[in-house]
Amino acid sequence: MPLTLSSPVVAPSLQISATPFGSLPDGSAVQLFTLDNPGGVTVCISDFGGVITQILVPDRHGERADVVLGYDTLADYVADRAYFGATIGRFGNRIANGRFTLDGVTHQLAVNDGAHHLHGGPQGLHKVKWDAYTMNLPGAVALVLRHVSADGDQGYPGKLGVTVTYQLNTDNELRVRYHAITDQPTPVNLTQHTYFNLAGQGTVLDQELTIYADCYTPIDRSLIPQGPHLPVSGTAFDFRVPRAIGERIGDPDEQLRHGSGYDHNFVLSSALQAGFRPAARLVDRASGRVLELRTQEPGLQFYSGNFLDGSLSGKRQRYPYRGGLCLEPQHFPDSPNRPDFPDTILRPGREYRSESIYRFSTES
Ligand code: BGC
Repeated sequence: MPLTLSSPVVAPSLQISATPFGSLPDGSAVQLFTLDNPGGVTVCISDFGGVITQILVPDRHGERADVVLGYDTLADYVADRAYFGATIGRFGNRIANGRFTLDGVTHQLAVNDGAHHLHGGPQGLHKVKWDAYTMNLPGAVALVLRHVSADGDQGYPGKLGVTVTYQLNTDNELRVRYHAITDQPTPVNLTQHTYFNLAGQGTVLDQELTIYADCYTPIDRSLIPQGPHLPVSGTAFDFRVPRAIGERIGDPDEQLRHGSGYDHNFVLSSALQAGFRPAARLVDRASGRVLELRTQEPGLQFYSGNFLDGSLSGKRQRYPYRGGLCLEPQHFPDSPNRPDFPDTILRPGREYRSESIYRFSTES
């Protein structure tokens, strides 16, 4: 059933409010924060897992739809294994065999993806309750989430203090800013795992994607990066000009077979311009909705929802195979084991800072 709201877009003021979202098994209360802007964009975020549960955006006629996959209850988010909307850390993506050697010491992380460590482990930052603060700024409202991950959490060395700031402004931008500090050297690679579907229902196969990347990172059958980056030119991975996601997803390509579709790191090509590089642009021609993503990260994991199979549901729909896609700005997968990749080690006295901007608009 479509999630389009039939009521006309009332121009809400810039505001942030909180409502109860339930309680965790330990009794702690969880809140849902709603950020509204005058452009008709509404973003709902929980202090459990820093999860984005809802993003309502207008189409070219002003009709709003929820463009992210999500559940109806807190219990569903607690049980979730698809990372719907979640804040991902300490390390987004995979670390081979959950193992890495840092300054001569080998660390074993919790494994939760066959033999590998994925998205910070089974009890990563997507499964913790964060401390939440709201802010009213000139032209923006913000939700600030803070959490301290203890030394040894999921096997990671060092106590890590993490802050994630979600800011919605009057330009229809959702800015997601990460900050972390540590007391021991440790890998950090924070990202966001929202599944987008700009139509609000169905599959994403007709939606057109641009990824500003000349190269991507090939993977083995267990989705661990292999060898050097490969050029996208002449392959199904060439999204340098807009391409419907479904156009070549079924190509007889070994890399598409390994990923069961797209599930790859794209190496963003552009230099930083005013602090950000263009990462991706997603268009739903039918509704006119457009999502543009800019980031300070060097890579973008494009995951085409290949493991969705209709078994997960929420918001009065079952999420079909390829019913949503993730665009995860991040450093490259398995970086702690790849000295040839940009460094992901945070050291005491240094600060981890990263920001990505999701901008919503329409085209006719
Ligand atoms: C990964 C997929 C994984 C999914 C989990 C994505 O970021 O690339 O391989 O299955 O997260 O929902």
